[in-house]
Amino acid sequence: MSLYGGIDLGGTKIQAAVLDGVSNVLGSARRPTPVSGGPADVAAEMETALRDAAKAAEVEPAALAGVGVGSPGTVDEHGAVTSARNLPGWEGTFPLAATLAQALGCAVRVGNDVQVATVAEFELGAGRLYGSLLGVFWGTGVGGGLILDGRPWRGRGGAGEIGHVVVEIDGARCTCGRLGCMEAYAGRASMEAHVRRQHEEHGRKTDLFKLMNEHGHTRLTSGIWARALEKHDKLAERTLERAVRALGAGVASVVNVLDVEGVVIGGGLGVRLGHPYAQRIAQAMQPHLFMDQRPPHVHVAALGDLGGAIGASLLFERPTGRAA
Ligand SMILES: [Zn+2]
Repeated sequence: MSLYGGIDLGGTKIQAAVLDGVSNVLGSARRPTPVSGGPADVAAEMETALRDAAKAAEVEPAALAGVGVGSPGTVDEHGAVTSARNLPGWEGTFPLAATLAQALGCAVRVGNDVQVATVAEFELGAGRLYGSLLGVFWGTGVGGGLILDGRPWRGRGGAGEIGHVVVEIDGARCTCGRLGCMEAYAGRASMEAHVRRQHEEHGRKTDLFKLMNEHGHTRLTSGIWARALEKHDKLAERTLERAVRALGAGVASVVNVLDVEGVVIGGGLGVRLGHPYAQRIAQAMQPHLFMDQRPPHVHVAALGDLGGAIGASLLFERPTGRAA
């Protein structure tokens, strides 16, 4: 049976997996994403992660039928990646597929990280019962992936940017520089900036930064937000309520246009906060849905942390759980 590799290139971690032809994970490995250097250094860590996963699966990388990669940034048809956000020194274009193919000795294909994770949920995860799906990846930013009529929809290459759906005219400043985007309220980076201002400039009490320091982080990770909620931290609760309201308005607006059957909530925060928050987002969508008597099904991503790597491996087509 042919074996396949998948690599998910994230802003904080690189996740690799080796799978068999029906997408059972035979081995996996994780490395931190380099914070300095450039694309060649990132590619070297990706190679190491895949080699570790292959070792766990007891296979040589060169024997794999192919390795798929999910990457941020713009990906061209040759697997070159341009302006990969949150990655060191990656403003220009880097031949990622060619570099990894040379290093690993097998075929390599590169796709957009959010798109391949959406395909994974559609083929194997929470979206496998549906013919159309919206993937919402709620993390540092808010990414979106689309499956319409059974096929990924990329538009002219820029489709799915759900984080930049406007939920308030002239609203909060987004990381993209525009005003009122959903991500300006719901993205982890924007939420952190918001609570920092509330805490430092307006004197609002919160244990978020204390928890961050106690756990040795320099950012408010999804885990820190979850711990603050467990402790009923008022500022954390109010900021997440604001995020949920923005997600409800933004996701419902997209559903009004596309009328998808299913919505899968993934990403670091989406997976960490889990089912209760998926339900809260569904409730927040309800007042904005035009066809409110027939809302789409809303689920948490079922493949969790490995979803990106599994989805990347699906860039090499094969019989899957959805076939037949
Ligand atoms: Zn924006």
